[in-house]
Amino acid sequence: MSDRRTTEGAATAPSSSPDRLAATLALDEAVTRVRLVSPARAKAFELLGVRTVRDLVTHFPRRYIDLSSRETVASAAIGQQCTIQGTVHEIKLKRPKPRLTLVEMTLTDGTGTLMVTAFRQPWLMDSLSAGMQVAVAGKLEFNYGFKRMTNPFIEAVEGDAAGGGMIFPVHPATEKLSAAWIRRLVGNGLAQVAGLYDPLPLELRAKYRLMSRGAALSAIHFPQSMDEVAEARRRLVYEELLFLELMLMEEGRARTHGRVPVSHLVDGPCVAALAAALPFDLTEEQQAAKRDILGVLAAPQAANHLLLGDVGTGKTVVAAFALAAAADTGSQALLMAPTEVLARQHGQSLGPLFDAAGITWDVLTGSTAPADREAILARVSAAEVDVLIGTHALLEDDVVPAKCTLAVIDEQQRFGVDQRAKLLAKGEAPDALYLTATPIPRSLALALFGNLTLSYIRHRPHDASRRTTKVHTKQDRGHAYDAALAALGRGEQVYVVCPLIGASSEDRDEKAGKRAAREGDEDEYVYAAISIEGDDDLACDNVAAAEKEAAFLQHKTFSAYQVELLHGRMPGTEKQDVMQRFRDGETQVLVATTVIEVGVDVPNATVMIIEDADRFGLSQLHQLRGRVGRGSLPGEVYLISASRTEAALKRLSAMETTDDGYELAAYDLSLRREGDILGNRQHGASALKLVNVVRDGKIIEAAYADALALLEEDPKLEAPAHRALAREARLAFKRAATVQGG
Ligand code: ADP
Ligand code: MG
Repeated sequence: MSDRRTTEGAATAPSSSPDRLAATLALDEAVTRVRLVSPARAKAFELLGVRTVRDLVTHFPRRYIDLSSRETVASAAIGQQCTIQGTVHEIKLKRPKPRLTLVEMTLTDGTGTLMVTAFRQPWLMDSLSAGMQVAVAGKLEFNYGFKRMTNPFIEAVEGDAAGGGMIFPVHPATEKLSAAWIRRLVGNGLAQVAGLYDPLPLELRAKYRLMSRGAALSAIHFPQSMDEVAEARRRLVYEELLFLELMLMEEGRARTHGRVPVSHLVDGPCVAALAAALPFDLTEEQQAAKRDILGVLAAPQAANHLLLGDVGTGKTVVAAFALAAAADTGSQALLMAPTEVLARQHGQSLGPLFDAAGITWDVLTGSTAPADREAILARVSAAEVDVLIGTHALLEDDVVPAKCTLAVIDEQQRFGVDQRAKLLAKGEAPDALYLTATPIPRSLALALFGNLTLSYIRHRPHDASRRTTKVHTKQDRGHAYDAALAALGRGEQVYVVCPLIGASSEDRDEKAGKRAAREGDEDEYVYAAISIEGDDDLACDNVAAAEKEAAFLQHKTFSAYQVELLHGRMPGTEKQDVMQRFRDGETQVLVATTVIEVGVDVPNATVMIIEDADRFGLSQLHQLRGRVGRGSLPGEVYLISASRTEAALKRLSAMETTDDGYELAAYDLSLRREGDILGNRQHGASALKLVNVVRDGKIIEAAYADALALLEEDPKLEAPAHRALAREARLAFKRAATVQGG
């Protein structure tokens, strides 16, 4: 079967074929051009990020259900995923709560009775009725004397569906647009683009024995076998990655094209004075990273260097040497951080060292007073400031350094491609240094940056085993608060992190139910919910409730101490003040949402309690806990799980057993798809839909090497065999960038 498709796709039609061209161009037409996509359905599609035909045919199934291997009610094993076909005996719609609907269905197959419950899918009543044959697939449970399934995949089958073609794709759906409808509309979309050109050069397709694009698109949506899915996926992942590499390499080329990069002076007086001013010795890894970085800065090429190191490994001071080298060179450097708190902190920690080393510096953020801002900008333009530290505020057009030769981006995973480009445009052909705590393997670094050099710092200056992590359920979180009180008694400080502050538990259940209904299975919900990032999640939070929580802790639990609240919606100056009081020890307990996630450094804080920890990704939790156990005092981290399910507790317990951020990220990623490691902010989720950075490491390396070779041979991809490729790579990422910007 797959042979048929492959040959059909590979039989290249004459390149002038108007049908093939029309099919290719149809990819970028509005989704309403597809048969049966009404304006109302187009609107529902928008919620899924589907606007064009391309979006539709790359709206890939989340999983597949193989209805061909069925079990009977009697033979199906409890606790297992299985498919059962039977006759609907009875079907009812119930409304146990005003906003909750559920469909209850009894299914019989001659060997027994199966009870099926579907939450929040009232539309099932329209398509199913007693007497119909249906197949259901899901996890088999046993309760109150019956075998049951909750929210299974449900498909009406006509007659005896024993024939072939029984693999059903399950596409991400919404309440307004069911998976069944989406399946149908995707089929129509594929018809619209049937015969489209394959942008991959033939030799690459032959080299890896890849299916044609058309064949892969049909096969991934409507496969005959799971092997076919794997082949289709392999082709499409390769394509996504090749486009990505080409785009990144082009970005790199454009940055320096026709410009003259600077060779920095790396052994000048500022660098030496900075070394002398440091209150501690650099670790060996820090020294190695410093050597790497000064090495690339000294070279007469535009550097693209990534400094990787787990939280607390001391990347900031290493970066400070790069900044000092720019000062020695008589030019300027920018240091951009993702939050106000962090930018201020850099000012506080690096400022005194810079002062001692004779390096002039300033901090510019969104809340810098207008008069100060004017003055700073004037000094920057007059080359009176060697190092300008700041937030996104540095990207503003009126920030015009006289001669910028170095741009450092801290926590770079927090910034998008455009922001990166904008900062780098502040100089002629500046060297770029990126810092990140996101643990990424080389293959992924290539995926993020195309060409780059990198340094790793693996160990913290202080022994990390001095931090312990414990998981508790909500019921016994008392232990955590006892530990917090003990630490406060010793004069230490405490963080309490409340990610979902404000959402009442009923709201949460409501959201959970909705999500489960939409996603079709509960597990997915767990992982969908953990992609909370930074301040954004506060959008759905209720500040009043956060204040209430802080007030409760102040008056009850921690009444003998000063408690303050830090949340993302506070004005920048207020955040700064709160942080400053905590840093100075005026407040001892900081109740925070995830704003403290990034880079915050208060060595006297030793206990961190994270409420609703099960809602986070492990990498995020690891980032969070990096805030304690940084100084010479040991740290204690308490993860409070709102969920008592085995899966949630097991996932969290990984935090107890390992302190290695890389291991945790890999574990997390093995549970999820692309993961926020690649960062939706990086390239737009829409451009990399299938790539899994753990599983696809080899393909990333291959695509990287191929992109390099292609550009070597044909730098602008102008040859006839490469034109389609250039166009597609551009389209894939241009679109993603605009979607993401919105
Ligand atoms: P991160 O890599 O997470 O950005 P920081 O740069 O914020 O880490 O450093 C964490 C803490 O470790 C800071 O308080 C910093 O002053 C301290 N630090 C960095 N390097 C050393 C060292 N070699 N010896 C002792 N402390 C260090
Ligand atoms: Mg940092």
